Amino acid sequence: MRAAVYSGYGIRPEVTQVADPACPADGVVIAVGASGVCRSDWHAWKGHDPVVLPHIGGHELAGVVAQAGPEVTRWRAGDRVTVPFVCGCGRCEYCLAGEAQVCPRQTQPGFTGPGSFAELVAVHAADTNLVALPDALDLVAAASLGCRFATAFRAVTAHGRVGAGEWLAVHGCGGVGLSAVMIGAALGSRVVAVDVAAPALDRARELGAEFTVDASAADPALLIGEITGGGAHVSVDALGSPATAACSVRCLRRRGRHVQVGLLLGGPTPIPMDLVVARELEIYGSHGMAARGYPPMMTMVADSALRPGLLVGRVIGLEDAGRALAAMDGSSEGAGMTVIRLP
Ligand SMILES: [Zn+2]
Ligand SMILES: [Zn+2]
Repeated sequence: MRAAVYSGYGIRPEVTQVADPACPADGVVIAVGASGVCRSDWHAWKGHDPVVLPHIGGHELAGVVAQAGPEVTRWRAGDRVTVPFVCGCGRCEYCLAGEAQVCPRQTQPGFTGPGSFAELVAVHAADTNLVALPDALDLVAAASLGCRFATAFRAVTAHGRVGAGEWLAVHGCGGVGLSAVMIGAALGSRVVAVDVAAPALDRARELGAEFTVDASAADPALLIGEITGGGAHVSVDALGSPATAACSVRCLRRRGRHVQVGLLLGGPTPIPMDLVVARELEIYGSHGMAARGYPPMMTMVADSALRPGLLVGRVIGLEDAGRALAAMDGSSEGAGMTVIRLP
């Protein structure tokens, strides 16, 4: 098969011919139709999140099952699917409880093994991890359901529990952040979007943000307090930096809920715990969404209440994977998600 392979951290991936992946007994091989280029791919490529080299990145995918292992009961060749970027083992206490997103023996295509910047990708424990896609949803639009869109959905609904009329603050308007804006607006919440890039804020407004805050110009927490008359009910740090994490906590009203989605790979992060106590704030970490959490989101996608296709900015070919990764150096994804389409 063809795949975009990198030989070392920071070295541009080259499209080369490599061996097809073997099908796990409990898993499937998926013919990749589309694969998003996500910031986590960039972190792995940069060496922030170590992988075995040479490596094939890509973890946000949609495609068609090409082959199913002998132990798989629920899926067969021809099924259109996506897969959460965290694949549970299917056997441990967390997977059995439907919490595969925190499985201690999790596998992640593009991190623990070869990923979806390739014509084929292997996925383990298919009966636990695959999610069926409606026929009407094209694979480019569906790719983000494997990572950024689903991650935002769970952050806003399962942890944030945002209600209609409540204020939702979203810090960082890349792929996850813009997804959270769309999801929050669809659920009837009032969204304040925060970023430092004007194009990202414009996009947030188009996707349903009622207010936008330029974080480079003022203290976003103070402005959010004024806009919302006392603070947000729910705030999501979709970027993942010590500054945005602390700001997300500080912008909450009493009894508010902070959801940390952006990866904080730099080590321990200071959080204003004095405010957490005095205002009785709730602090959550959110790590993707297990396949079992998908049905309510898929219902909203099928009804067009949620339209992940609107978040796609650029569609590129596999040979442009390296350029797309390099383009993430230091910049936000505010222009929309970049998605690789495979023939
Ligand atoms: Zn991702
Ligand atoms: Zn497990």
